[in-house]
Amino acid sequence: MSIARSLLLKAAESPWLARQMSERAFSRRAIKKFMPGEELEDALQAARRLAAQGQGTILTQLGEALGSLSAADQVRDHYLQVFKEIKARGLPTWISIKPTQLGIDQSLETCRQHLLTLAQAAEQSGSSLWIDMEDHTYVDRTIDLYRSVRARHDRTGLAIQSYLFRTPKDVAALLEVKPWIRLVKGAYKEPATVAFPAKRDVDLAFYDVSLQLLEAARTGGALPIFGTHDIPLVRRLIAKARDLGVKQGQYEIHMLYGIRTADQADLTREGETVKTLISYGHAWFKWYMRRLAERPANVWFVMKSIVG
Ligand SMILES: Cc1cc2nc3c(=O)[nH]c(=O)nc-3n(C[C@H](O)[C@H](O)[C@H](O)COP(=O)(O)OP(=O)(O)OC[C@H]3O[C@@H](n4cnc5c(N)ncnc54)[C@H](O)[C@@H]3O)c2cc1C
Repeated sequence: MSIARSLLLKAAESPWLARQMSERAFSRRAIKKFMPGEELEDALQAARRLAAQGQGTILTQLGEALGSLSAADQVRDHYLQVFKEIKARGLPTWISIKPTQLGIDQSLETCRQHLLTLAQAAEQSGSSLWIDMEDHTYVDRTIDLYRSVRARHDRTGLAIQSYLFRTPKDVAALLEVKPWIRLVKGAYKEPATVAFPAKRDVDLAFYDVSLQLLEAARTGGALPIFGTHDIPLVRRLIAKARDLGVKQGQYEIHMLYGIRTADQADLTREGETVKTLISYGHAWFKWYMRRLAERPANVWFVMKSIVG
């Protein structure tokens, strides 16, 4: 892991820095690169704009590791409202959520109930529910939650990280439930005992796990989602899908709002299914630091925002 990435991920844990950044106008200007605004309405309007150019969207309210079960109830209620908005506006929009926002730290069973409730609401509104993957200490519990939700609801998916050594085995085991899997490289600071420290190995693992998923997609046994902005890798995977006879629409490409925007539009024009993950909400500090860590050159945007 590069020193810059490691420092930025460490800084993400600092409550002092979180307070400083949240209060400063320059950091509010800087986050505009990655989110259309802090309010749900900002995200819904961006979803409408992207829908007009053929792109689907996934919404997520920022926040993680809540302190109480009543806070988790509020998050569930918030997303129930979001599903209503999606249906009322006829948007091609899904929702993605972190289990720590739904109380996994307080009660696994309550978190499971909330996810089941949300998966049902997703189904009723023609949307779908995605579960994000957090750091490695949550993987077993998150897969367990996904299995419960998937047993009752088809339109649900799970994020899986290629930087973890365990991932090929997890994917092989999950194939029995015909999963929807969003493969990502992984955004957390993980020890070398559980994850590849070198980026090159993470990239190679991403390709290998994608092949595992594409092979399954040939017979309808999985919906692979390539959740990456690594365009050469995406291009190689599209070519591989074609070789294997996996058609456009039998896999998808998901990227974050504000990153590789032109490539997202190009891929859509080429007939690929592209969706953009839009974040909103006030608790953006940790999430924002992870975006900076992914590309330390982004710190330049922060510097530019300080001066103007
Ligand atoms: C839809 C989606 C959902 C995700 N969900 C999760 C999740 O549930 N759990 C999790 O751990 N991680 C998640 N991530 C984050 C992911 O793990 C990576 O940290 C992130 O996508 C950066 O890696 P990359 O695959 O884009 O590849 P990289 O090899 O890091 O980047 C490839 C290229 O993309 C561009 N790029 C990448 N990141 C940025 C950035 N922040 N700013 C500007 N340019 C950039 C750069 O040009 C870079 O050269 C998600 C990512 C996406 C796209």
